[in-house]
Amino acid sequence: MEQRDQGSEGTEDRVQVINPWLGLRIGAVDYAVYLVENLANSSTGNLCDGCVEWNESRIFINGNLDKQRRRYVLWHEIIHCITDHAGDLDLTTVEDEVAVTILAHGITQVLKDNPFLAEKDL
Ligand SMILES: [Zn+2]
Repeated sequence: MEQRDQGSEGTEDRVQVINPWLGLRIGAVDYAVYLVENLANSSTGNLCDGCVEWNESRIFINGNLDKQRRRYVLWHEIIHCITDHAGDLDLTTVEDEVAVTILAHGITQVLKDNPFLAEKDL
């Protein structure tokens, strides 16, 4: 699997924002989620899978990913949002990114295999 950057700030020059794919409320913040073709890291120019634009409350997911990857990359960015809201926990080291990705894969798998867990009336 190709290693890609998970993203960074400064998305304005590398995305073409059209219509949101999803709207998500995470904590007290409503985010618009966009699928962006060939999403690239503004620093390196490398393709990245996803990123959060904090000032505009927008999440960008690389639209070139297949649906399975989109799902866990979205969870990856959701985890970043949750941890940011929980006291500016900035998970940006390589080790942090690995942990976030492990959680994203785990949450995606558990919810996919046990969809009743996402229902409001459990
Ligand atoms: Zn990340």
